[in-house]
Order: sequence, then C-alpha cells, then structure tokens
Amino acid sequence: MSGRRAVRDGLLVGNLETGEEVALAGTGCRICGEVTLGQNRLCPNCGGEEVEPLALSAKGKVWTYTVVRYPPPGDYKGADPFRPFALGLVELPDGLRVLAPLSCAPEQVRIGMDVVFQPRVRPDGVIQFEYAPAGEEAAQ
Ligand SMILES: [Zn+2]
Repeated sequence: MSGRRAVRDGLLVGNLETGEEVALAGTGCRICGEVTLGQNRLCPNCGGEEVEPLALSAKGKVWTYTVVRYPPPGDYKGADPFRPFALGLVELPDGLRVLAPLSCAPEQVRIGMDVVFQPRVRPDGVIQFEYAPAGEEAAQ
C-alpha cells in the first residue's frame, strides 16, 4: 500500500506508509519561542525566519469542546450515515491548542480529560487524526 498522505500537506511527521511515529508537525521559533501547528517558514508571532520543525506531543488535554450534530457542509468524509461527534480544542504541552474530533461518545467527554493523538487512515489513503481518551487509544 502506498500513496498515503496527510489530510493537509505538512501537517504530519513520521512514516506515513507504516504509521510509525506519526505525529502532528509543528514549528518552533528560535527567537520568541512560539510553537505553531504545521510546517511554517515564518513565525506568525514575531515574523522571524529562525524556525525549526518539531513533532508535537501526542498527549493533550481537552481544553473545551462542542458537539457537532449535523454534517458539516461540503465534501464531508466522516461517518456515513452521519453520527454526532465531539469536536475538541485540545491543549498540548507544547503550548498550543489543536482543533480535532474526539473519538469517544460525546457524552463521555469532559473538559480537562487526558487525550492521545490518534492518526486514522481513510480508505482513500488520506491520513486524518483525532484524539482518543488516554488509555483507550489501543482499544479500537
Ligand atoms: Zn517568533
């Protein structure tokens, strides 16, 4: 199987073909210390060019969340038929928050709960990601 790719260019690091050590890509600024999501050539905080690629932490905490009860408009690639899901704003120890679906049932989500990054390969080879409750990431 080949041709796997991240849901957005530059969003993931690691071996996308085998799934080993796949993590969110980040960029750290050597000048101001800002950490941002994805691979960036400039720091969006200070405009500096002295940035370095990072692999963001797999662990985070739910900072807040909402429940998506209707299919998003456009080319939705989620569950068919649609089922409501929790969309979390996950705070990473790296110092940023990432918006992503949470894999557990919406009623199980709690603010402050520990979650773990979980890449998912869609049938079309695109790798997207979500966060699973810590300790349950291997259960699915
Ligand atoms: Zn900076």
